[in-house]
Amino acid sequence: MSMYMSSKAEGRICLFGAPFDSTASFRPGARFGPAAIREASYGLETFSPVQSADLDDCPYMDMGDLELPFGDPVPALDMVEKTACEILAKGRIPFMLGGEHLMSLGAIRAAMKIHPGLTVVHIDAHADLREDYLGARLSHATVMRRVFELTGPDSLFQIGVRSCTREEHALVNELDTLPERIALKIGERPCYLSCDLDVLDPSVLPGTGTPEPGGLMFGELSSILVSVMTRLNIIGLDVVELAPQLDPSGVSGVAAAKIVRECLLALYRGPAGSR
Ligand code: MN
Ligand code: MN
Repeated sequence: MSMYMSSKAEGRICLFGAPFDSTASFRPGARFGPAAIREASYGLETFSPVQSADLDDCPYMDMGDLELPFGDPVPALDMVEKTACEILAKGRIPFMLGGEHLMSLGAIRAAMKIHPGLTVVHIDAHADLREDYLGARLSHATVMRRVFELTGPDSLFQIGVRSCTREEHALVNELDTLPERIALKIGERPCYLSCDLDVLDPSVLPGTGTPEPGGLMFGELSSILVSVMTRLNIIGLDVVELAPQLDPSGVSGVAAAKIVRECLLALYRGPAGSR
C-alpha cells in the first residue's frame, strides 16, 4: 500500500505526523518516525486478511507532517493541539504519527476540549506516570501523568505496562489493564487511544528509543487494537515512538506501518467508522 496513494482528498480520518523527539530520555530519533512509516507503507498490501477489509475503501487522508520547532516542547504541543482541534471541530478523527510520546498530550488536550467526558486508553511498555523527569514536567516519561491530571483516575486505562517506578506502580495498580474490562468500563464514552510502539517486544520492534524486553508479539498487539477499536467510540488516536534509525534492518518501520494500517481499518469497521 502507499499511504499517500490510498488516502482520499476529503477523508474523515486525518493522519498527520508530529516529528519531535527533544525530550527523549535515552535514545532520540522518533522525529524520523512519520516519514519511515510512510516509506514502509509502500511495501504493504492495502488489504488486511485478518480484518477482511481494504484501505482502498477506508475514508482517510494524509495531511503530511507538522513543522515543529526543535527543543522547546511547549510551542510544539500547542501546534499539535491546534491541529487536532481543527480536525475534531470538523467532526473528523485525528490520527497522529509520532514523534515522541509527549506529543500525545497536545492531541489529548484538544480531544478533552471537544469531548469533556473523554476516556484515554494508553498502550505502552512504560507507565509514563512520573510527576517529573529530572525536573521536567513535560517529557515522554511524564506524559500520562499530565493526561491523568486532565481525565482523573476513572478515565485513564493502561495496557501492556511492564516498566515503572515504585511510585508509578502505586498508580498503575489503581488503573484497569485488561482490554475486555476496559471496553466494558468505557462503554459508549468518547475514547482517545494512544499507542507507544515500545509495548511490542524489542525482537519485533527494536527501532525505538526506550526498548523494554518482555513485550507483546505483533499479533497480540494487533488483536488488542482491533478488539478495542471495533468496540469503542474512538474519537482520536496516535501511534508514537518509532525511531527508525535505531533499526538498520528497517523491519521496525514495516511493523509500525502495519499497525497503522490495522488501526485505520479497525476504526473504519468500528463504531467510529459508522458515524
Ligand atoms: Mn514506552
Ligand atoms: Mn510512552
